Amino acid sequence: MFPIPVPIPESFYSVETEEPISTCLVCETPLLDGSTEYLIEKGYRRYENYDVEETVFGYALCMDCHMTMRQSFSDESKRRCQSYLSDHVDLPKRATTLLAAESADPEDWTRRCVVHDTPKADLREYQLLAHCRGKKMLLTHLPLLIGGPAIDDLARRLSDETLDDLGGFRDEHLGPSPELERDLQGPVLA
Ligand SMILES: [Zn+2]
Repeated sequence: MFPIPVPIPESFYSVETEEPISTCLVCETPLLDGSTEYLIEKGYRRYENYDVEETVFGYALCMDCHMTMRQSFSDESKRRCQSYLSDHVDLPKRATTLLAAESADPEDWTRRCVVHDTPKADLREYQLLAHCRGKKMLLTHLPLLIGGPAIDDLARRLSDETLDDLGGFRDEHLGPSPELERDLQGPVLA
């Protein structure tokens, strides 16, 4: 049954090119020829008085670079992240339910915060995470949407060392931006 490839939704496109992201943020491996699996992470912010969403960051990370990053996390952080998620959401069950729906619309994966079930429209900040291969997104336990409050919960469970590593990753690859201060970058959920 897994995974089901679908076209990459525009919400996961590059803001600059308005096309699928074509290279890994870290090693610059080309991603769209189909031979490499990768993750896309995007952060969004909504402005309360305007019905406007802004992309705060967005990038793709090949699986090799993702593995390297994950290996840098402390065991404690990995364990706490996993238990936070498994305490709050049954990802395999969620995927089975979503895939069993007649339409299996990829949008259904990202309508609500995966942890708190808050509708996207009620979140001031959220992040999207997807697993892709070439020009296709793979429907598995990803994609998912995680809201600002759940990101904060998760960040509180990470060790200082891991938070420093993630901050270093952010500064090195995404550039310093006051917009990013509070956000937790890096696909810690994949
Ligand atoms: Zn890479």
